[in-house]
Amino acid sequence: MTSHDDLVDRARRALTAVGVSLPEMSDSPMSARSPISGSDLFPLSAGGDPAAEIGRASAAFSGWREVPAPVRGRVVKRLGRLISEHQEHLADLVTIEAGKIRSEALGEVQEMVDICDLAVGLSRQLFGRTMPSERIGHRLQETWYPVGEVGVISAFNFPVAVWSWNTAVALVCGNTVVWKPSELTSLCALACSALVERALVEEGHSPDVHRLLLGDRSVGELLVDDPRVALVSATGSTRMGQQVGPRVAARFGRSLLELGGNNAVIVTASADLDLAVSSMVFAAAGTAGQRCTTQRRLLVHRSVADEVCRRLERAFASLPVGDPFDEHTLVGPLISEHAADQMASALDAARKQGGTVTGGERVDTGMGGVWVRPALVRLPEQAGVVLTETFAPILYVLTWDDLDEAITLHNAVPQGLSGGIFTRDQAEAERYLAAADTGIANVNVATSGAEIGGAFGGEKQTGGGRESGSDAWRGYMRRQTATINYSGHVALAQGVDFG
Ligand code: NAD
Repeated sequence: MTSHDDLVDRARRALTAVGVSLPEMSDSPMSARSPISGSDLFPLSAGGDPAAEIGRASAAFSGWREVPAPVRGRVVKRLGRLISEHQEHLADLVTIEAGKIRSEALGEVQEMVDICDLAVGLSRQLFGRTMPSERIGHRLQETWYPVGEVGVISAFNFPVAVWSWNTAVALVCGNTVVWKPSELTSLCALACSALVERALVEEGHSPDVHRLLLGDRSVGELLVDDPRVALVSATGSTRMGQQVGPRVAARFGRSLLELGGNNAVIVTASADLDLAVSSMVFAAAGTAGQRCTTQRRLLVHRSVADEVCRRLERAFASLPVGDPFDEHTLVGPLISEHAADQMASALDAARKQGGTVTGGERVDTGMGGVWVRPALVRLPEQAGVVLTETFAPILYVLTWDDLDEAITLHNAVPQGLSGGIFTRDQAEAERYLAAADTGIANVNVATSGAEIGGAFGGEKQTGGGRESGSDAWRGYMRRQTATINYSGHVALAQGVDFG
């Protein structure tokens, strides 16, 4: 069992290894906390004045944008190497602050290495286009330029990967970055910032290209309202996006929103049930239900519903819940007491709306944090409780007779992040893909565990943003269309004659 003192020791060791020295402070209003012990680990300094830090990144932009993209790529290559070297230390911090089990924490750090690889390749592929002009002796071209300063606001549940998706890509695109991490994961942020600043300096660039702002939402609001921040990339709840989106738009800034999910998997009568059940146990219970892509809804064909529910109930009841540093544990703590209260309220509401609940009880691990067993809720019909994202391991089950009915249920929530279908029938899979309104839609793969190669993000109240691979880099750049006249004559478009 990992004690409070073990957590403090591990955190200090990891921070020292990556080059962060924590000043001794007794009267700081901020502190690092772990959901494992449910206690504060040590006080933290908020760092420099936020407006001045935003100014430093803004001032660094003019120099950084002049650095050729492939040379910027070298910084990200070095960052990827540093992250690899410190994979264990970073994973320790992810487990300490977000409560992720070891394998998931290591996986999250691996995702950082992967996006650095992708961004390094990208640094030689920020392709524009040329188009034929309608005028003789003219050429049209589109070129991509950096937007300027990118403000990154991130959530507690992916304390390092989401930062790296934004930062690795933003940096090769020629932007500077100011990061406001979740107030719950400041140690992860201090470690990542130390590594990127080291990579910048070792490659001969200013550390001001990346700045860190620790603090709560009031610090995030400074980024949101500051006209020097050209793009605000904000990851978190839909409630946060509803505040951030309009405020950034009011000053004609750009925002990239990655918000809450409410993800469903359809299981058809033809599905391979072994495959479906194993995949869904991870999707629904992994990270203790605290992923944006967590499976929150199961839409199962009536003929196999009892069988699938029986298997899921058995799996949920036997999942090892406990210390995330123990290699046998599969379900770690919830982030806070508040999260457990939200889960309990959602289960109460589900019961009132006709649901039958199995699991969902608190588990006493004796470690101080809050642990729960994943819950399965069978509902006779669509219910109000299903429409909101409760950030905890609750899987709502609805049954259907006809695939169109299942797809209607799949799309009948305000969020649109991820979804999936389990089927052996290709026509069913194709009908699902064509109709699903989510940014991510999988076949024989459940809702969570995306790779960095594809664009990541969702529709509707998930915010519409795209990050990570594919052509998501375009969101971090501005497009310029140029007409070049090498004819020596004036020629107006559309054949206009102006004398
Ligand atoms: P949260 O919305 O409480 O906080 C996220 C971040 O936003 C924090 O850094 C917070 O300080 C900041 N913030 C909150 N209100 C703000 C405001 N008005 N202005 C500026 N900054 C503000 O979310 P959380 O509890 O940390 O994370 C869980 C949520 O994040 C879930 O809804 C989950 O689905 C979502 N999430 C989405 C994705 C995605 O890619 N779609 C990824 C991870 C998490």
